Amino acid sequence: MAKEYPKLLAADENNKIYDIPEFIATGMKGGEYFRLSEKDLIKLHPDSELFVLPDRKPVGYDPDQEKFIQISGNPFASKKGSLHAVAAFFAPGHTTTYSASYKQNKRTRVLPLFSYAAVALYKGEFYASGIRIDNEKRQELTGMPLAGVRNNVKKFRKIFPKNRLVRHLERCALQYGCPAAKNFFLKRYEAPLPTSPACNAKCIGCISHQPEKGCCVTQPRIIFVPTAEEIAEVALFHLKEVKDPVVSFGQGCEGEPLLVGDVLIDAVKLIRAKTGKGIINLNTNASRPDIIKKLFDAGLNSVRVSINSMQEKFYSAYYLPRGYTLKDVLSSVRQAKKKGGFVSLNYLVMPGFTDSLKEKRALGRFLSKNDIDMIQWRNLNYDPLAYFKKLRIKISRREMLGVKELINSVKREYPHLMHGYFNPSRRRMRRA
Ligand code: SF4
Repeated sequence: MAKEYPKLLAADENNKIYDIPEFIATGMKGGEYFRLSEKDLIKLHPDSELFVLPDRKPVGYDPDQEKFIQISGNPFASKKGSLHAVAAFFAPGHTTTYSASYKQNKRTRVLPLFSYAAVALYKGEFYASGIRIDNEKRQELTGMPLAGVRNNVKKFRKIFPKNRLVRHLERCALQYGCPAAKNFFLKRYEAPLPTSPACNAKCIGCISHQPEKGCCVTQPRIIFVPTAEEIAEVALFHLKEVKDPVVSFGQGCEGEPLLVGDVLIDAVKLIRAKTGKGIINLNTNASRPDIIKKLFDAGLNSVRVSINSMQEKFYSAYYLPRGYTLKDVLSSVRQAKKKGGFVSLNYLVMPGFTDSLKEKRALGRFLSKNDIDMIQWRNLNYDPLAYFKKLRIKISRREMLGVKELINSVKREYPHLMHGYFNPSRRRMRRA
């Protein structure tokens, strides 16, 4: 094999990562293995992380035998030892196209709430299977120096002595490392406005609430509902201080903001009474079209609707909605468009499912009926094999179109649509 090729990576029991040059790196979709080539890979962004996947055997492609091989033993260890699969957790702004590939057994525990992209060693560097879907540097670590955050946390205590929401965002920025909260303290891009301790869905991959025996949450939920005045104070400060600002309801550290709709409506009215600057955005499960309508009447500008599938059965199996259905979500989209709002889909991507023929058709039907403005192709942070199992997804290899191919075909078929990862500012919307 003269030509440079992507080499399989694996880790030993001490989490030491090796390349295994005998094997070509592979990707996985719904338990199907795929041989990776240069065109499937991009250089791994330095803000990305490498994960060692416990109790999961790496799978490589053996070009001599022309087949996929599960690697059990550790060829590098003097005494008996096993190897584990390795995955990449992409930096924000990237969409995963193949999941990491591995073989697991029945006793293997579910992976924590992250996305797991296939990774390889190529030309001596780490590459992973994905695409850069958004070039904005909004959440790049180099732009969010912790010293600057800490400094402003202290300064903001004087500016907002009694604001509980700012106290909450301090913990988000300093303890959970939330990029949106850090950006608030650095007065740049988009500021978060979490408000709701409760939710009317029970997503299996919810990062703020998990059942007892489930995965651990990555961002505990806010435990109080801020007042409209507290919200408006934070938002007005950010809208004033930042050139092309966005403020957003609906964060990882809360439930569903529409459940505290009255507070949001009052807050938006308070903000818009003072300024027309910037974008007030709502990230939501869009379960309440009636409140969406009132929010746009109050001055909301854009809404990002989270959705894992346009197929009702897979939507319900993931969101476990209580008291609403996918129909309500679609009605919210229509309400927002009727009000002239900018509508994005937060399309939660799982390789092998999102790019399946049936899901593509369902997405096409939705896009043809609803004149939305943008698709944010965001990775679904959930154990890939557990996702297919829990949602009882059965998709054959030939029905998998490829995530990159799917995005390119949507770009061709719906040229007016914006594509990205982040809620756009007013300037970006205009540019689009
Ligand atoms: S809609 Fe959001 S907050 Fe509610 S369960 Fe799902 S992920 Fe969690």
